[in-house]
Amino acid sequence: MTSAAARLALDLTADLPVTSLEECYRDLHRHPELSSREYRTAGKLAGRLRDAGYETAEGVGGTGVVGVLRNGDGPVVLLRADMDALPVAEETGLPYASEVPGVMHACGHDLHVTWLAGAAGALAAGRDTWSGTLLVVGQPAEETGRGARAMVADGLYERFPRPDVLLGQHAAPGPAGLYAHSPGLILSASTDVDIVIHGKGGHGSRPESTVDPVVTAAYLVTRLQTVVSREIAARDSAVLTVGRIEAGTLHNVIPSKARIALSLRTQSPSVRERMIAAIRRIAEGECLAAGCPREPEVTVGADFPVTVNDAATDRRVAAVHGEVFGTDTVFDPGPAMGSEDFPHLAPDGVPYAYWFVTSTPAEVWEAAPGAELMEKFAAVPSNHSPRFAPDLSTVAPGVRTLASGTLACLAKS
Ligand code: ZN
Ligand code: ZN
Repeated sequence: MTSAAARLALDLTADLPVTSLEECYRDLHRHPELSSREYRTAGKLAGRLRDAGYETAEGVGGTGVVGVLRNGDGPVVLLRADMDALPVAEETGLPYASEVPGVMHACGHDLHVTWLAGAAGALAAGRDTWSGTLLVVGQPAEETGRGARAMVADGLYERFPRPDVLLGQHAAPGPAGLYAHSPGLILSASTDVDIVIHGKGGHGSRPESTVDPVVTAAYLVTRLQTVVSREIAARDSAVLTVGRIEAGTLHNVIPSKARIALSLRTQSPSVRERMIAAIRRIAEGECLAAGCPREPEVTVGADFPVTVNDAATDRRVAAVHGEVFGTDTVFDPGPAMGSEDFPHLAPDGVPYAYWFVTSTPAEVWEAAPGAELMEKFAAVPSNHSPRFAPDLSTVAPGVRTLASGTLACLAKS
């Protein structure tokens, strides 16, 4: 016995304009735009929302798009897609590969925009089957962690209805056609940390007259590996990655400065605080040991919050996905170490559900080495890889996940 929401979702999405949606996806993929510069992408989304009958606004929080469809009494449901691409040079070899050198939709946000446009269209066409208000959001600058906050700071909920529930979804590696739901913590917090080491520069032939920051940076990178392994309890999940190290100009010049950039992933504030304190202590200790003329500068930069699904909302959406696609397509992956700024869109205490749609083409998945799911998972191109290439076959299902999730919140019973 299927629920009303599942039946309606199947009805409303039975005749999706798949050709037009795939063309939309290929077009967005060809024309990626970096964070906060999603002008063309925003225009395309806004055009589709207007055509579907939404009151539409652009330029919210920079390049954000908002579409509102008021359809009688009932809750306000926010549907969100992020729109930005990454500074990655595409290596997929796809016929619709990026035409912008060094910029690529390597995280699947082009797919998210397509899913959102498709779901917004289907829900508008079937508005006699549900009651409430849809708030459709094309969010800029997810990758920099700024976009959601910028939209809220620009009066998102003063100018448009305040949501009672928020829904978001993301493309992920894994055999296309699975829907990953966790009824609680699903994504980790992320914190950027920058360290500047001050040495004393000089001639490469006379190290005795210098304090070499390159050597200190090397020790520091190595020593930082002990933060997670030696200072964080095994029951807590955490990651510390040094993603960037920069110093020097020539073979024979000892530079006066070195910089390293770190990404932290944590799932509790206490672990985050402990890691930041350990990083400061280790940086100061290494610089002291090296005889640096000044203490290092340790700067805590951009951060992303934890993403914690409201259990009841997520279970309701997961249940309808199980009805629409089959219960064996829905699974709980547990929390991931990746991060999202989606929670910044949720006003305090307002529930949300955020899930993943696996999108690796079947033939790529089959060809990946390994027999176990996790081995293959590690082998196929993931988000941010220059070879990340979601299967076009996921365009229609991603529209159905969003539409059915919405109907689970809004359908007339
Ligand atoms: Zn990303
Ligand atoms: Zn992403």
